[in-house]
Amino acid sequence: MSDSTLIWQNGTLKPWHEATVHVSAHALHYGSSVFEGERVYATPDGPRFFRLADHTRRLFASARVYGIDIGYTADEIDDACREVVRANGMDAAYVRPVVFRGAGGLGILPKDDVVDVAILALPWGSYHGDAREQGADVCVSSWNRAAPNTFPSWAKAGGNYLNSQLIALEARRGGYAEGIALGCDGLLSEGAGENLFLVLNCELVTPPTSAGVLVGITRDSIIALAGELGIPFAERALPREALLYADEIFLCGTAAEITPVRTIDGTPVGHGGVGPITRALQDAFFGLFDGRTEDRWGWLTGLDEPASTRA
Ligand code: PMP
Repeated sequence: MSDSTLIWQNGTLKPWHEATVHVSAHALHYGSSVFEGERVYATPDGPRFFRLADHTRRLFASARVYGIDIGYTADEIDDACREVVRANGMDAAYVRPVVFRGAGGLGILPKDDVVDVAILALPWGSYHGDAREQGADVCVSSWNRAAPNTFPSWAKAGGNYLNSQLIALEARRGGYAEGIALGCDGLLSEGAGENLFLVLNCELVTPPTSAGVLVGITRDSIIALAGELGIPFAERALPREALLYADEIFLCGTAAEITPVRTIDGTPVGHGGVGPITRALQDAFFGLFDGRTEDRWGWLTGLDEPASTRA
């Protein structure tokens, strides 16, 4: 990245190389950061954030779990997200607000007052490359998601992503695009950085929010779109073998969007190819950004619009 890329840090826009962190930062040693991943899409009406207010709400909820005082209001964080995209002159972007315990002593017990906030905006296309069309080859990980009373999965905290890295690195070593982890109960949970959906007997099913998953905003969007399309849907605890019974499987997230899964541990999913329910949901989802799907939820907001969608 060049210095023409600007980063918002603690209230000011800085060139890329000036947006630095001290080596004593608590988050570097102890994983005490919370963050978001958001997308801005180039739409016929210009650049639009997708569910900005919901991402900011989750950022504040994650911070609350760890007792981190962000030091800005939610509206100020929304404004700063928009500002950094505008300042970089971007039509489409992946936006990464990160809040972390900053420089100070090296004690595990954090000092309440040292909190840094930064927001990056980067170009980021399809996370799993051409898998959006072809489907991804995925494995079941030998690593489990953390037990519920260890690392809270609803919080999008930096430390949680050590587990995600183990899953993703193992998958990559095995030649897979991604790994799906089981929860500590042996039931299906989610991918390293995506929620998981299966189509079983024409019903769309996803593990419940108690399954050690991040409660994804894309997951929620897909549930709403499935409702619009009249696709039967249930949240249900699922055993691992459901992956082999499924007619369709896909992973979803802000970065991954809707990525179909074509093989699980080398076994083709369903009849191969991208299944009709996955395709219909992809059409509805991507249609939000090219005007084919009506945004009846107020999910899309412009770079100059106030965060009026906050409940
Ligand atoms: N699970 C994990 C572990 C993730 O990192 C992500 C990506 N943020 C998701 C699920 C999907 O969440 P969202 O749709 O809100 O991006």
